[in-house]
Amino acid sequence: MTSAVQNVACVQAERYEYSTIKEGVDRLFALLELGKLIRPGISVVLKPNLLMKRTPEEATTTHPTLVSAVAEKVLELGAASVLVAESPGGPYTKSSLNAIYSASGMAQAGSEHHFSLNQDFTYQEVTWPQGKACTAFNVITPLVGADLIISLPKLKTHGMTGLSGAVKNMFGSVPGLQKPELHYRYPERDDFTNMLIDLWECVHPAITIVDAVEAMEGNGPSGGSPKHMGLLFASRNPYTLDLALANLIDMPVPQIPILQNAILRGLCPAEFSPAFVVGDPFRPVPDFQKPRKKNLDFVDVLPAFLQRPCKRVMERVLVPNPVIRKGDCIGCGKCAESCPQHIIQIRDRKAEIHSRKQCIHCYCCHEMCPKKAIDLRRLLG
Ligand code: SF4
Ligand code: SF4
Repeated sequence: MTSAVQNVACVQAERYEYSTIKEGVDRLFALLELGKLIRPGISVVLKPNLLMKRTPEEATTTHPTLVSAVAEKVLELGAASVLVAESPGGPYTKSSLNAIYSASGMAQAGSEHHFSLNQDFTYQEVTWPQGKACTAFNVITPLVGADLIISLPKLKTHGMTGLSGAVKNMFGSVPGLQKPELHYRYPERDDFTNMLIDLWECVHPAITIVDAVEAMEGNGPSGGSPKHMGLLFASRNPYTLDLALANLIDMPVPQIPILQNAILRGLCPAEFSPAFVVGDPFRPVPDFQKPRKKNLDFVDVLPAFLQRPCKRVMERVLVPNPVIRKGDCIGCGKCAESCPQHIIQIRDRKAEIHSRKQCIHCYCCHEMCPKKAIDLRRLLG
């Protein structure tokens, strides 16, 4: 028997038609009794994924219909105000955010469905003494002051973390270009993902509702392709929710370091069980395209003294490297701006990686390229 707080709710929602999505949101709230969390008069902040300037059809950002339906739901339940707040991958500025609000459909949805769009570009330091990897974060101000936060991720693959779901969505709490700084401070995969877990616990959204109507498969979180799934998920627990999403896209836990570390920290059940899920059943989708990733698990079975040198050699061969397709590059500089190692330069209006040895394989450049001009390629395989 699982507790209500651990439960994941799943409902079918075939299309981004307002009535369909609103019905789905109503069912999610009923299944998990989420209405009890909305006290009359509170201010609610919705935190979608607005990674970059993309249209809803590109499946990179949370669909505005889901944001609208959740906003209307919490207003019906007595919330006094609803604000959408997100720090995207690039600079956290008025012009950048307003361009994203407009392209993603949030600006129009906000005027039709009674929610506002954040225009406060300040941040505050929030301490989190119990953090394992990180004990203080700079968090955008609207998330610090909210009575209640609802996180609204888009289901996507991710080159570094395997899955971009409930936990990863809260990386957008960190202001703009401070995100690459965190990649720089935590270049190792496990440290970085423990930092993401600390950040989720620090900001602590009360509810997470996942847009999995059209997901992104392949080279997510921005270079992949839309994949129709026709589902919405909700939970108060981001770990069981990510476990359910992993099961849906048929991605094993060892390929998702956030889940591996959450399990090690006792935050997450060791494996998915259908007993966690209420609402509509779902089945794994085995043909969901996975991102190109390294898999060095076999090294762990070697004697300890061989593991480090073997990992070093195999990493060179198996870890995908960012490779710029110069023909598609427009020299916008977004990759250089987001590179925590500062190893990308723009010369003659084309991007160049000038020191491959210093690359920490965070894939921020790949993630931020608006032209999908950065491939992730292995030497082998
Ligand atoms: S690789 Fe992409 S992000 Fe970098 S300069 Fe070229 S188009 Fe812009
Ligand atoms: S080149 Fe790309 S993958 Fe390498 S450190 Fe810079 S942003 Fe990260």
